[in-house]
Amino acid sequence: MTAFVRTVRGDLPAHDFRHVLMHEHVLWDIVPPDRRHLLGCESIDTKNRWQTDYRSNENPENALQQDVAVATEEIGHLAGDGGDLIVDQSTYGLARDPAGLQRASDKAGIAVVACAGTYTAAYLDEAIHAMDVDGLTERFVQEVDTGLDGTTVKAGLIGEIGCSAPLEEVERRALKAAARASRRTGAGISVHPGRHTDAPFEIVDILGHEGAELSRVAMCHMDRTYPTGERVAELAAAGVAVEWDFFGIEQSHYWMGDVELPTDRGRLRLIRDMFERGLGHRVLVSQDICTRTRLLTWGGHGYGHMFRNVVPLMKALGFAAAEINQLISANPLHILAMPGASEETEQ
Ligand SMILES: [Zn+2]
Repeated sequence: MTAFVRTVRGDLPAHDFRHVLMHEHVLWDIVPPDRRHLLGCESIDTKNRWQTDYRSNENPENALQQDVAVATEEIGHLAGDGGDLIVDQSTYGLARDPAGLQRASDKAGIAVVACAGTYTAAYLDEAIHAMDVDGLTERFVQEVDTGLDGTTVKAGLIGEIGCSAPLEEVERRALKAAARASRRTGAGISVHPGRHTDAPFEIVDILGHEGAELSRVAMCHMDRTYPTGERVAELAAAGVAVEWDFFGIEQSHYWMGDVELPTDRGRLRLIRDMFERGLGHRVLVSQDICTRTRLLTWGGHGYGHMFRNVVPLMKALGFAAAEINQLISANPLHILAMPGASEETEQ
């Protein structure tokens, strides 16, 4: 029985992967619905790229990247920086493109995981809003077992399930469905919590009540939810993995609210503290790239920043090799590795 990762090019042994990016977007459209009418108003060039980046997705031109050739080149550079697996958490609502991911993965020669699930209520259509928990469960199971959006490309993770604060009803149903679909398929779960310090705890309650294996749940966005690390240990002690996924955002300004973001060094200080508390096995790291200005093509750090810059910084700050391995390999693979092996993959 070999645990496998379900990639867009098929099931591959989990032990093949050493350098994992758990939470990124490779092909996506996260333009806020109320800013969509501004598309095309302000193109990005070298004179405005810094300001555009600073304000993140306020310029909707920055909030989407659907060109497969660009994606191929960007993840190709990631492979050059040592990455071997990248998870595109563009769920339904974010213009998920499973066939495009498969083409990019084929050409770039790097493994990509596509994702099942639904984003926040504001990004969903009437048909999804009308679905009950059973309907959503069947949908998510099919996305993992059969294929995404009419393709034969299967999802290897459920999420990021988008949640608002307070939680919208369709989001509550999606969380319950994610837990049930996870139990049926063996796929792990990732959740984008609402921006309230109680939101992740409410989500853990809902998932736990539905019987989800909490150690295989990633709670995203610690950086903006608990910027000084408050309550992260409490959350990890509740059983879920906690994810710092803003690596590469080296600014204090948060575009979505009155929050002072940590920098990469600050994130690593908070993560060091998790190891001191014996909770290092519950920590995930990633970059959640979802704007063009963070890609190399637009003068950004690109997907490879984690392995090019952050891992050396971890070493410089005294992280042991085994700890770094947990952060970039063992911990994400605990969530991504689907137990057992199908007959075909055993051959
Ligand atoms: Zn994301």
